[in-house]
Amino acid sequence: MIFTSTRGQGGRVPLRSLLTRGTAADSGLFMPEHWPEADLQRALALGTLPWAQLVAGLIALFDDRPEAAPQTLAAVTRAYARFASPDAPPVRMMTGQCHALELFHGPTLAFKDYALMPLAELISDEMRSSGGEATILCATSGDTGAATAAAFAGRPATRAAILFPRGRVSPVQQRQITTTGAANIAPLRIEGDFDACQALVKQLYASPEAQHDGFTAVNSINFVRILIQTAYYLSTTARLWTEKAEPVNFFVPTGNFGNVLAGHFARLLGAPIGKMVVCSNENDVLPRLFETGRMERQPTQATLSPSMDIQVSSNFERMLYLIANGDCDRVNHLQRELEDTGSYVLAAPELMALRRDFVAFRVSREGALAAITEVWHRHRRVVCPHGATAWAAALALDLPGQSVVVETAHPAKFPEAFQSLGQIQPTEPEVLSALRGRAERWINAPNDAARLRALIASLPHG
Ligand SMILES: *Cc1c(COP(=O)(O)O)cnc(C)c1O
Repeated sequence: MIFTSTRGQGGRVPLRSLLTRGTAADSGLFMPEHWPEADLQRALALGTLPWAQLVAGLIALFDDRPEAAPQTLAAVTRAYARFASPDAPPVRMMTGQCHALELFHGPTLAFKDYALMPLAELISDEMRSSGGEATILCATSGDTGAATAAAFAGRPATRAAILFPRGRVSPVQQRQITTTGAANIAPLRIEGDFDACQALVKQLYASPEAQHDGFTAVNSINFVRILIQTAYYLSTTARLWTEKAEPVNFFVPTGNFGNVLAGHFARLLGAPIGKMVVCSNENDVLPRLFETGRMERQPTQATLSPSMDIQVSSNFERMLYLIANGDCDRVNHLQRELEDTGSYVLAAPELMALRRDFVAFRVSREGALAAITEVWHRHRRVVCPHGATAWAAALALDLPGQSVVVETAHPAKFPEAFQSLGQIQPTEPEVLSALRGRAERWINAPNDAARLRALIASLPHG
């Protein structure tokens, strides 16, 4: 399997080089040149494998090195051994047609652990065999940074520079990023919002020295990360379909469009998915796009769900590539327009293709709080403010088939959101209470790519 850039000028590379690569040289994102054919039976067979085998099997589908399979399985198995349970994330039945997918059982209590833990093992293995050193660059609105810090802490031949926006990540998330105590984890506090952090990371990758610096991306521009996330859509659909052969709709709290795209990848592989429902907070760039066909960046607002406070959903470029039928010139044109003017407009067939597979839903602060309250009354379940956007959509929309509400984080990571909710309060798991006694450490870093690069070069490896 060969991968090419969404913008057409990024070369042709195999999966293993994607482990340690972010954007392509032309600033596009890597995608498979050809997809394996959609195959329901294979999707169900993969989806019912034991969890580590499923993840490793999925990677193997896209890897051109059959001989690497045992090592991949070993790395993945090691990663999930650090979870509360090594099994696939649990699917809880809420009502006959509605289920909750709990993606918060990893070490940092958000879904990003599911992909980052194995990715850290795979990158570490790759560095060991090639004799290189990886510098993980990561822009975070909270959870990616926490999961990156946990995944790479102390990993030999790696170091992680974690850029987080000052005052825009929750105190719990900040502690997860700043208290690892590992010398190879550098939390870098930036004056600006998440999009500013992401822009810095993109600039560093695009610099001519990026390869030489060993810069490695683990945010959702990394294809392997999205691919690993595809595994829980396969396990969930396989499990539900086996009980009831009806298509499954997923309600997904969305920021960078990574987790939704992972679900779409499961559909491309043949999983029986109805609609992927793109759930946003007040940063509603995607619902506006789905409604009007116009992608238009607006200033980012701080909301109850900070991990979704994003106005540039970088992974949407991969979707654009898919709905443009792989026309790189078209992707190039629209992305350049977005960069230059802050907006672009989809053609009618592109918008139609989107609407066939996706529905988008915007949830206000009041809507999220109302959903938390409603879910508490119906199910005695406290959901996090990100999951609440998905719950709000699931309660409002009546789609044919079965529904799965994707709960992306544990509510105790966001206690601020529950201030007005009286008795509805999350219980804090011990992994979070334990962080409180630890010393925080971060570096105030410049919002300037050249100076940042010099700073990062001076950081220690593991
Ligand atoms: C990162 C994150 C999201 C957004 O996921 P994307 O893949 O960026 O769309 C939603 N919820 C939580 C809790 C997150 O950490």
